[in-house]
Amino acid sequence: MTTGASALPTPGEAEALVRERVQPLPVESRPLESLAGAVLAQSVRSERDQPPFNRVTMDGIAFASLAWRDGRRSFRVAGTQAAGQPPLHLADPAECLEAMTGAVLPHGCDCVVPVERLRVEDGIAIVEDDVPVEPFLNVHTRGLDAREGDLLLARGTRLGAPEIAVLASAGMPRADVRAEPRIVIVATGDELVAPDEPIAAWQVRRSNSYALRGALSLRGYQRVAEDHLPDDHAVLADRLAAHLATHDVIVLTGGVSMGRYDHVPSVLRQLGVTEVFHKVAQRPGKPIWFGIGPAGQTVFGLPGNPVSSLVCLLRYVVPALSAMQTAQPRPAEHVPLGAAFKVKPELAYFLPVQVEHSPTLGLVAMPRLTRGSGDFISLLGTDGFVELPPGPRDFPCGHLAPLYRW
Ligand code: AMP
Ligand code: MG
Repeated sequence: MTTGASALPTPGEAEALVRERVQPLPVESRPLESLAGAVLAQSVRSERDQPPFNRVTMDGIAFASLAWRDGRRSFRVAGTQAAGQPPLHLADPAECLEAMTGAVLPHGCDCVVPVERLRVEDGIAIVEDDVPVEPFLNVHTRGLDAREGDLLLARGTRLGAPEIAVLASAGMPRADVRAEPRIVIVATGDELVAPDEPIAAWQVRRSNSYALRGALSLRGYQRVAEDHLPDDHAVLADRLAAHLATHDVIVLTGGVSMGRYDHVPSVLRQLGVTEVFHKVAQRPGKPIWFGIGPAGQTVFGLPGNPVSSLVCLLRYVVPALSAMQTAQPRPAEHVPLGAAFKVKPELAYFLPVQVEHSPTLGLVAMPRLTRGSGDFISLLGTDGFVELPPGPRDFPCGHLAPLYRW
């Protein structure tokens, strides 16, 4: 592949290559309690009709609406239908049963009037005259939401609170989901020093690993290890071989550019990692490297500059993890620019933004410039970045752009 910008993939093309090339993670069975954020690897059908019976939705009295139609407004209370009890039987239309929310509608009854609309004197319930009584008033009828055997969850669904409720309601204490990827973040660079170590004037703190781990953690990825390696070909080869043996995903930062000590691409090649692309027509983060290891491992070499590495993680690594989990892709959130913005036309541009509310446009993305890709301090207060496509020089206020949140 040449290095001319015109020959490089666009971000959209690069993302498509990533999604196409990554390998699916194995399937495992996990208990309901640990399924939040996991991706379903099986389909789920309704165990029963939902609701499973005609369900009372208000605390009140249940009776036959036919009696009301015939002019009856007071009913002798013949008993109580509590939630969790088998249905009682009301034989006499002059009577009613107390009925609780969540109870099955008693036999012989077809409506419920709430306690707020009646008074009880000497065991007789007297209903207000203007209650709009009709069949199934305040009754959630059996099978209204789903029928037994209906497909409720498809493979590839990411499980949030509603989906987990559906699994539980389908009588499933466990579900088959994709395993969580084992990820290692590998910082490279002789100049990097951990936050808890003494530091010289010419050294810098190692911050990328923490930022990337934070972004992954916010998306539910917790199996994340870390390493820090020097700019040394032999050490890199040795340690990366070990990481390839124990991880599904390697995310390197630094060492992928054209410098004398940027060994990452040649080391990965030596270890049998097949290059899919090196460089994307974008700014920042143009030197990004992506390849597939000999056992199908996903390997990213992200540029070391802090803004570049974070942007590349969200634009490529997060979609790669989703694809490995075979999650159904979700459409990107789009937000209009809150101010016009000018860029050089030949590369896609990742622009940090603050999401604000504008009285005329609703939610807008306000451009927040950094002083280059090394300036992560300027990201403070921003919500993420928008992607501006290559081509136009001037993007007007209102230009609709995909938003990637930090
Ligand atoms: P590189 O991509 O290795 O050429 O690094 C580009 C710039 O990013 C250099 O100024 C590095 O010092 C800086 N850098 C690389 N890795 C990190 C890191 N983990 N944390 C903070 N800065 C980094
Ligand atoms: Mg470096």
